[in-house]
Amino acid sequence: MPPRGADDDYVGENEAIPEEEEDFLDDDDSGDEFQNLTPLPRLGRPGLRAKASAPAAQAKGKDSTKPKGKAKDAGYSWEATYKRSWDNVHEDESGSLEGAVRQMIDGNKRKRVMRDVAPVQRGIIRHLVLLIDLSSSMLEKDMRPNRFELTLQYAKEFVNEYFDQNPIGQLSIVGTREGIAERIAQMGGNTIDHVSALSNKRKLEPRGEPSLQNALEMARSSLAHLPASNSREILAIFGSLTTCDPGNIHDTIATLQKDQIRVSMVSLAAEVKILKEVCTKTGGSFSVALNEGHFRDCLFELLPPPAVEGPKRKAGGQADGIEASSVVQGVDLLQMAFPLRLPAHSEPTLCACHSKLKGSGYLCPRCGSKVCDVPTDCPVCGITIVMSTHLARSYHHLFPVSNWVAVGWEKVDEKSCPRCFSCAIPFPEKPGHANAAMNGAAAGKNKFNGTATSAAATSAAKKSTGAAKDDSGLAPSSRYACLKCGNHFCLECDAFVHENLHVCPGCC
Ligand SMILES: [Zn+2]
Ligand SMILES: [Zn+2]
Ligand SMILES: [Zn+2]
Ligand SMILES: [Zn+2]
Repeated sequence: MPPRGADDDYVGENEAIPEEEEDFLDDDDSGDEFQNLTPLPRLGRPGLRAKASAPAAQAKGKDSTKPKGKAKDAGYSWEATYKRSWDNVHEDESGSLEGAVRQMIDGNKRKRVMRDVAPVQRGIIRHLVLLIDLSSSMLEKDMRPNRFELTLQYAKEFVNEYFDQNPIGQLSIVGTREGIAERIAQMGGNTIDHVSALSNKRKLEPRGEPSLQNALEMARSSLAHLPASNSREILAIFGSLTTCDPGNIHDTIATLQKDQIRVSMVSLAAEVKILKEVCTKTGGSFSVALNEGHFRDCLFELLPPPAVEGPKRKAGGQADGIEASSVVQGVDLLQMAFPLRLPAHSEPTLCACHSKLKGSGYLCPRCGSKVCDVPTDCPVCGITIVMSTHLARSYHHLFPVSNWVAVGWEKVDEKSCPRCFSCAIPFPEKPGHANAAMNGAAAGKNKFNGTATSAAATSAAKKSTGAAKDDSGLAPSSRYACLKCGNHFCLECDAFVHENLHVCPGCC
């Protein structure tokens, strides 16, 4: 695509906006959550741009299926109507807000915990290139404080979370600006290196046009040589509507397909055909960030390792002829080495990866060469070097804890345990019992079971006449049951087990 001043085209059209309309917009903004920030004159540009790209936003698949009102709520920040955060909160009978607020927080927590637990083969040895657009379009302020700052902040969180969830995964970071691609961080498994590379804002300052093709080629060069057992992915955060490419990008897409590199993208502006095409053709996902929160969700959706698809193996099986089905079911074995860790005070020797004199490090058990960090591929013999603990921590992706079900009041009887199985905090009592108890003196003073829960319980009891749980998946009885062991847990433990522990305390 030829380089083009994305904004300049639009400014001409919109210069005709009468002053009053600008003023009106200004007034409209004054009551919302950004009121402490400087008002419109600087908002002018994103505002103009909003008008220009609004049709593009409407044309998006996701939006067009949504009901109108909902689209309004979840729209771009510039499309949002006069929104007060306190409108969502309603008082309960006693005039307290505590119950309503608590329910909102709990609802979000529960939503996060529910995930797909279908058993699929996942590529846990991941190699991911994080590709960040550093063009001048990243200075747009449609996301606060601006796209660039927000992207760096989320990218840092992403890197931390990525290594936490994929301890034997590796990551590298590539940026693109002024028509070229530059490597920001080398492929490796060291969180600190990557985060410090992303913290250097001055070095990453956005300018010029991005080049999607150059960036994809650079990313491909660091992934193409990897063995087939590794999953190769590119995750691009793209803010620009244009790209400045030296050649035919369709050739690049074809080579990406051939090398089985999956490209996923989060666009911060609008849906651009070529960006979407790259993703669909390589089997990745494409999403357009509607606002700050949605941007984060789009990014963090890509944290769990992707399911490994079968087509390539199927093709191989068919080529072999007879045992096609067994080949599809079969599992590839792969060699891994558990290194010997050298103590920090050992005699300094040269490492094989950087040729630096260092005391600490890891010895490859096959060839005896020394590397600085694990996980990595041995630079001498090529074997994958991982710590056994890392391998064990990756295990939970393959055997996730099943989702726990919300328990309705009708399933709670005298036999059910009055306390959470894992943290032993007592559950709220059944409504009938609760009323009796509340006739006693200080029902609201109890630290955990106080006004919040009793209020929530009464309002929940009203709702629960029809269904055992409401839309948010919250249990009226505050109990969540593991289907395997049948124990009841509280919401806090539900979140902790599914997000951090990855093993049910009742089953093990
Ligand atoms: Zn080294
Ligand atoms: Zn080696
Ligand atoms: Zn608990
Ligand atoms: Zn269990």
